[in-house]
Amino acid sequence: MPGRSRPRRSEGTYDPEATTALVLAGRALLRGRLQRVEIAIDDRGRIRAIGKTLPGSPRHDVGDAVILPAATDLHVHFREPGGPADAETIPSGTIGAALGGVALVGEMPNTRPPVTDVESWSSKVRLVEGRAAVDVLLYASPVEPASLEALSRRAGGFKVYLSPTTGIETAPRGDEVPALLERLSKLGLPVAVHAEDPTRFRGGKPAGSTADWNALRPVASEAAAIGSLVGATRALRLHVAHVTTIDGAKRLRSAGLSFEVTPHHLLLSATPRGDARFKVNPPLRTERERAGIWEAFRRGEVPILASDHAPHPTDAKRLPFDSAPSGVPGVETMLPILLARVRAGELDLGVLQAAACDRPARWLGQPTGRLAPGHRANLLVVDFRSRSTVEGAKLASPCGWSPFEGFEMVRPLEHYRDGSRIVEDGEYVGRPDGKVVRPDYAPGQAPSGFPRDD
Ligand SMILES: [Zn+2]
Repeated sequence: MPGRSRPRRSEGTYDPEATTALVLAGRALLRGRLQRVEIAIDDRGRIRAIGKTLPGSPRHDVGDAVILPAATDLHVHFREPGGPADAETIPSGTIGAALGGVALVGEMPNTRPPVTDVESWSSKVRLVEGRAAVDVLLYASPVEPASLEALSRRAGGFKVYLSPTTGIETAPRGDEVPALLERLSKLGLPVAVHAEDPTRFRGGKPAGSTADWNALRPVASEAAAIGSLVGATRALRLHVAHVTTIDGAKRLRSAGLSFEVTPHHLLLSATPRGDARFKVNPPLRTERERAGIWEAFRRGEVPILASDHAPHPTDAKRLPFDSAPSGVPGVETMLPILLARVRAGELDLGVLQAAACDRPARWLGQPTGRLAPGHRANLLVVDFRSRSTVEGAKLASPCGWSPFEGFEMVRPLEHYRDGSRIVEDGEYVGRPDGKVVRPDYAPGQAPSGFPRDD
């Protein structure tokens, strides 16, 4: 690796070509310890140096507040194109992300029409450009074999649904999955998989509660789907979306595969009274399962946190359970409700920072999510004394509700994008200059020039 023989990029060293545009002073987690630091940001919006005291101006001292790298949420569903007029848009969704401390979202391809070829991919790019508050990585759905090659040179990743979902009506049969994964492994993009095996779903009377939903789409369907993935070729950058079971997490961990859990599966469980607001795929599980996956997360055994933000309107969620759509909003609350758990002493800040900020950005090949020289100065200022509670109606999403209504939050007071403030005193003050991004390792991608200092 170039640079190995050079002295280690140490704190406080300067790139002589750049000038300091801002010095941010506060506390930050470095080498496992929360300590007083100064972070110099250069005029290109990159972190220039981190040290005890650094020269340069202007300076902004946030006192005892904590400076965190901004998060990446690699699993969201906004509603463009094809959503109804009052649905989530790329502007509203990305402003929610900015307010929730998320600098990059991975947008799933099951919009209407779904992103399955170059034409649908290009029209989605046009919807992002000039309208997004944060960066957006666009996944494509690999259902049209003739389009895969061209998509691999454009999209940010592939999303494979092993069971049909909103907007994607057909899923590959179990015996078709190995060949599909083999094909995708040659295309060089990250591949996220929705892992439920529909042949394990149960019939019976219509579901009327989250407990019924859990019985109809049982943990066995997740286990079967994970079973079909753990043997996949190592050449594939495979990531399993929304894992809900202790066993699933264990198997993926020992297979060395990337996976995510969602705040709703960490914090909510199925009950005989759980109404359609809490209907999600995969379902909320039993309290025992939830507590187990939360413990695994707390121990740092879950690589990635992602919201699976799916902001269905209140009216749709008031339908009878059986006919209501699956999914809950969450991009704006993901980090703040878990920061509240850190504040309560239930979760280690380092564990959260790794799962929400560092690893998802690495998986998507992005120079963000870490406090390290050369990385983008996408930073948050968090004051753990500044608490609030979730009120769905006050969130940026037009859906106007949250499954976490009343949960405590610690919202970022400030959010810097490439060194410029886009959230100030908890209010969005940014511009719609978010970009469509691709992994730095993607085929045809120009090298981004950031140091690979791990
Ligand atoms: Zn999803």
